[in-house]
Amino acid sequence: MDKDAKCKKCQSPRLAEILAKCSDCCQIVYNGATYEGYPPEDFGIGEGGDDVAITLCLNCGQVQGKWPRPEPDISEEAGWDNPAEEEEDEDEDEDGDEDDGDEEEEEKKMPKKGEWPE
Ligand SMILES: [Zn+2]
Repeated sequence: MDKDAKCKKCQSPRLAEILAKCSDCCQIVYNGATYEGYPPEDFGIGEGGDDVAITLCLNCGQVQGKWPRPEPDISEEAGWDNPAEEEEDEDEDEDGDEDDGDEEEEEKKMPKKGEWPE
C-alpha cells in the first residue's frame, strides 16, 4: 500500500493492512446462509486462496476498497449451507460436533453466527 494512502472516507492516514492466512477455515454468515472454506473472492476481503486481506481505517473503521460489492454467490454450488435454498440439514450441530469448541479459544475469535459486530 502507498505510504501516503489515506482513508477514502475520513482521509486519515491511519490505515492498517491486515492479512490473515486462514487456509480453509474462513467462516462467513451472510443473509441466513453459512459458509466455511477458503475465503471467497466476492466479499471484498481478498483475492481468494488462503488470504483474508482487509485494509482498515483505525480512525473511522472504514474498510477500504470498492463498495458496494456485487451480490455474492451463496448458492449450495458455491459451497454455502443455504437454508433458503434447501430446507434440510439445517442443524448439524446437534450431533455433538466437538469442532465448535475451537471457535471459543482465541481472543480474536470470529464472532459467532448471528453476532457480527456492527
Ligand atoms: Zn477513515
